[in-house]
Amino acid sequence: MAKRASAAKTDTPAAPTEVDAAVVGAGPSGMAMALLLARHGFRTALIAPEAMAGDDRTTALLESSVEMLRTLDLWEAIEPHTAALRHMRIVDGTGRLIRAPEVVFDASELELPAFGYNIANLDLNRELAKACAETPELLRIDSKLASLVTAGGHAELTTEAGDTVIARIAIGADGRKSMVREAAGIAVKDWRYPQSALVLTLEHGVPHHNHSTEFHTPSGPFTLVPLKGRKSSLVCVVSPEDAAYLADLDDAALGLELERRAASVLGKMTIVGKRQIYPLGGLTARTVADNRCALVGEAAHVFPPIGAQGLNLGLRDVAALGEMLVAARRRGEDIGASGALQAYERARRPDIATRTTAVDLLNRSLLSDLLPVQALRSVGLYLAGRVSPLRRLMMREGIAPMMARPRLMRGLSLR
Ligand SMILES: Cc1cc2nc3c(=O)[nH]c(=O)nc-3n(C[C@H](O)[C@H](O)[C@H](O)COP(=O)(O)OP(=O)(O)OC[C@H]3O[C@@H](n4cnc5c(N)ncnc54)[C@H](O)[C@@H]3O)c2cc1C
Repeated sequence: MAKRASAAKTDTPAAPTEVDAAVVGAGPSGMAMALLLARHGFRTALIAPEAMAGDDRTTALLESSVEMLRTLDLWEAIEPHTAALRHMRIVDGTGRLIRAPEVVFDASELELPAFGYNIANLDLNRELAKACAETPELLRIDSKLASLVTAGGHAELTTEAGDTVIARIAIGADGRKSMVREAAGIAVKDWRYPQSALVLTLEHGVPHHNHSTEFHTPSGPFTLVPLKGRKSSLVCVVSPEDAAYLADLDDAALGLELERRAASVLGKMTIVGKRQIYPLGGLTARTVADNRCALVGEAAHVFPPIGAQGLNLGLRDVAALGEMLVAARRRGEDIGASGALQAYERARRPDIATRTTAVDLLNRSLLSDLLPVQALRSVGLYLAGRVSPLRRLMMREGIAPMMARPRLMRGLSLR
């Protein structure tokens, strides 16, 4: 990767840099996008400061995302940091009148070694950053985007340090408050939930045996996801008041309380690492592409952490956009013109809409006291436990919709 000295560090303003694509944001979506494009011969700039150092979350990368990382030769470096998710257990802990039986899904039913692999965000981001640094075709500009103007067949991006980049397409991977989205004039629909997620890492007395366990509680899911060794990450979705109460407990009291809420499935719990609280909300961009800009990851969609869907959906954006841009170039088209952008929007809209709706409905069904809603959720889980074809369909679609799997997620190259 070439690293560009910022204009602010030199006496004279640097001349504008011309690239095919400028990716803004160096979270996992942005780095994956920049790597994909640079490795497929696009002159690519990645405009962003280093990814957040304080992100102690983990991400379950589902099988389709792993396939994409494998195809891009990134998986070998990432895999040693991961724990396999071979079994997924859903426990109805709502304590309500109508409750579903416990359901366990097993990856072997799909003839897969695992549904996916869980990794600390710090490890994932570090490995992606290393791959960026080792990709000479990728120009990294270590500064935040300050402004973006689109006119005359290109996008002009200026950084806070004063660098200017001229690109055929600007790709917003700059998270939920995306400046690229705003500059492109793309409106959003956003909403809040009366919930927060308390996130932390635990050590436990009983091995997890590669089981991920999701308790459905009346305030939201309480999910334990395996990490390497006798460790798991916890995402505990509760009211903001309960999250604050839990976060204020000392380590011993919090360990005991979490063991109680986890029905001791993993034995004694010891808190390791810090506690983080994420207020929950949702966001959908009205379109994922317009005005020489395309959006990927949380710049395009945000929803609660249920079923490990967020970044997996974001990586499907990345794979699909890469596929559209390679195809547009092969046809001799301008990659930032409306044809390629519309193809991207058409390819992604159904997947984004169905995932957002499914996660929203599941979350709201947990919060609802209405008996018909509880009955529907319970019947759904009951059938998933008993009816084999439905089980397999739910498992397969939970990983990624068959209809929306880009080539890279089917192990196919773009060349
Ligand atoms: C508690 C929790 C648990 C989760 N667990 C999972 C899971 O198991 N599986 C899963 O798939 N998803 C999960 N998610 C969702 C997942 O974390 C997100 O989808 C993912 O982090 C989004 O990545 P991103 O790269 O799109 O955005 P971000 O990680 O937000 O990255 C955006 C980047 O853009 C940069 N940026 C912002 N503005 C600018 C600017 N002006 N100029 C340059 N750079 C800028 C930021 O600094 C940041 O580095 C979880 C979410 C939460 C809250």
